[in-house]
Amino acid sequence: MTSWFRNRRSKVNGSGAPPADYAALRQAMVEEQLVARGISDPRVLDAMRTVPRDAFVPEEIRPLAYTDQPLPVGEGQTISQPYMVAVMTEALELTGGERVLEVGTGSGYQAAVLARLAREVFTIEQREVLARAAIERLVRLGLSNVHVRIGDGTLGWPEQAPFDAIVVTAAAPRIPPPLLEQLAEGGRLVIPVGDEHQQELWQVRKHGTQISTRVVNYCRFVPLRGQYGWPETEGQ
Ligand code: SAH
Repeated sequence: MTSWFRNRRSKVNGSGAPPADYAALRQAMVEEQLVARGISDPRVLDAMRTVPRDAFVPEEIRPLAYTDQPLPVGEGQTISQPYMVAVMTEALELTGGERVLEVGTGSGYQAAVLARLAREVFTIEQREVLARAAIERLVRLGLSNVHVRIGDGTLGWPEQAPFDAIVVTAAAPRIPPPLLEQLAEGGRLVIPVGDEHQQELWQVRKHGTQISTRVVNYCRFVPLRGQYGWPETEGQ
């Protein structure tokens, strides 16, 4: 079976070069980009050893799927760098029983990682083309605990609230108030906050009417749009 697949792939790419061994590249990515930089939650590492990132990037750049960078996924948007996915996921402190909200489905990769670490994942994407492609990938991988909605994620998903953890995967000018409202008591919200050039990655914790904020890292994401995001600019 393996050799048939390999032969066929060599013919298809026409170069005679052996096809990339994505499983091996994925293991190397986890060791070199995540473990080596301090990601230590074994469940996060395990999820990222399992989810095929190559299935979430466009065909023409698939050989770059496990490189240490964000990659374009169409519509001017990106799939986040693997390290950043790991940092954000680790900061959600998931143990397995949670209901998680993601704002910014993009390719669906982070949602697929979350699906292995939590009970239910609700993810919102404002761009219909990306949302539909993500749904197709998630269904193909059999991830039935991910629910995708097309719309403005800064408003959250009130019908499914409260959420034990919320992750925003686009750069926000501030914390969208509906997301804090929809966070469960003791819940974690992970969100990049800053200007268009650089943001701090915040882990926000809710304690009654109070919140505590910790800066986890520095990052650069595409802008969050919608009611509590940045206004649309020409051509974006
Ligand atoms: N988590 C994604 C990467 C997302 S890039 C992945 O794993 O591939 C950020 C995404 O947020 C983009 O797809 C963008 O269209 C989306 N986005 C921006 N503002 C949004 C909003 N208000 N509501 C929902 N999605 C939004």
